[in-house]
Amino acid sequence: MKHHLNYIAGTWVPASQGGCTPVTNPATGEVIGHVPDSTVDDAHRAITAARAAFGPFRDLLALERADLLWALHGQIQRHAKDLAALVTEEQGKPLDEAKAEIGMSAAYVRWYAEEARRIAGEGIASAWRGRHLMTLRQPVGVVAAITPWNFPSSMLARKIAPALAAGCTVIAKPAPQTPFSGLAWGALCDAAGLPPGVVNILTGDGATLGGALMAHEDVRKITFTGSTAVGKILIAQSAATVKKLSMELGGNAPFIVFDDADLESAVAGAIAAKFRNAGQTCVCANRIYVQDGIHDAFLSRFVAAVQALRLGPGTAPGVEIGPLIDRAAVEKVAACVQDARAHGATVLTGGAALDRPGHFFAPTVLSDVTDTMLCARHEIFGPVAPVMRFATEAEVVARANDVRAGLAGYVYTRDLGRAFRMSQALDCGIVGVNEGVVTTEVAPFGGVKESGSGREGGREGVEDYLETKYVCIGGLGA
Ligand code: NAP
Repeated sequence: MKHHLNYIAGTWVPASQGGCTPVTNPATGEVIGHVPDSTVDDAHRAITAARAAFGPFRDLLALERADLLWALHGQIQRHAKDLAALVTEEQGKPLDEAKAEIGMSAAYVRWYAEEARRIAGEGIASAWRGRHLMTLRQPVGVVAAITPWNFPSSMLARKIAPALAAGCTVIAKPAPQTPFSGLAWGALCDAAGLPPGVVNILTGDGATLGGALMAHEDVRKITFTGSTAVGKILIAQSAATVKKLSMELGGNAPFIVFDDADLESAVAGAIAAKFRNAGQTCVCANRIYVQDGIHDAFLSRFVAAVQALRLGPGTAPGVEIGPLIDRAAVEKVAACVQDARAHGATVLTGGAALDRPGHFFAPTVLSDVTDTMLCARHEIFGPVAPVMRFATEAEVVARANDVRAGLAGYVYTRDLGRAFRMSQALDCGIVGVNEGVVTTEVAPFGGVKESGSGREGGREGVEDYLETKYVCIGGLGA
């Protein structure tokens, strides 16, 4: 499953100018291989292949596309062990988390294999006698997909699977830190029997390839998962050719624990929501708000649970936290802790990078945090948990919503009325009530405000790859 070449038009090819870039294992710093440093010409080749493949693929029966997705699902399951090992090797997460990610990739493909046959327009009650009105649902065309490194397999599953279900063809550019899991999709699609050009994967510099994909009029849609800063660049670039957009951008999730919460479950939920993937998930708990009455009890149990987390290379048995993706990530997280300290926060555990090979940062809990500190204003994207006090429901809603991001939010309470009120009041696209991990292929995932637009997963996930065409048929008689 480890391929070192681009997959374009159904063949494995090097970058047109022969360049390649190294990929490292974040747990050891060792180079684990090289991938093509693709050029604008390579992007154009992929666009040509995807454009040529689009017509015939669009014209397949929905059943035929569903069958191809089932075959793809079968290939993921068949190679699950190797795919998970690849994720751990290049991304660093513990092997069990990597296996879960591959399970999610398979689950998305399965879901959209099922959904592929349920794409349907509708008949509309006519405004005129003698005319029939209806809508058709048609694929948008060639789709460019740009993905981050934190879930290098499943982020592509969430894009490739609904795109194929809709009848679109795809050009995917995985992140440079984790290209092998992206290129593996080429091997999977090939083995599943997808026609050449339907899925193309190429690696290389984001700005170069993104620029080429965004400028090209044959690319009709861009689906991006990554930082809000890059999302804004792509949104601006899309204007020139008026592309359809799906943007899954950064988060800053509040995790709110009310006095009436089940303490054990709130602590377990906070550990899962904060430390999964070493805190490098877009739905990570970024600000933990705890009500006065439960604050001290929560904090002491939470710190004990954090101190019990086992850190190490993702391949070592029992490890729960792996390394951060690279040196820059460690420095960013360290800067958050330093800023919090400088402004009066207390480091209750952790607080520094570890002096060992790889990019490890100690799981950290900060107390006495305020909303104006860097760690509260921005997405930390690392294993640092800032804990803050609050007094009332109205206060915590106002504070939780006072950020520009709006992806996930979490609430722990045993009061049913409050659970409903909070679900409605939080400005975000996803709410977990008494649950710290809520992502599933059957439900829509996505954000509001600067966390993006569009949804992945659920029935909604395929909508982003479809156009609605209105057809009015006249001349039918009175
Ligand atoms: P990133 O820096 O935005 O990079 C994401 C991808 O965009 C990479 O493939 C990158 O490739 C590419 N890229 C960078 N600049 C580009 C440009 N000018 N044009 C086109 N492509 C460009 O994000 P990241 O650090 O990899 O990922 C972390 C971010 O993703 C976090 O903010 C996280 O919250 C967000 N995220 C969101 C979701 C969600 O569903 N909402 C899910 C996961 C992650 P190069 O590095 O080669 O430039």
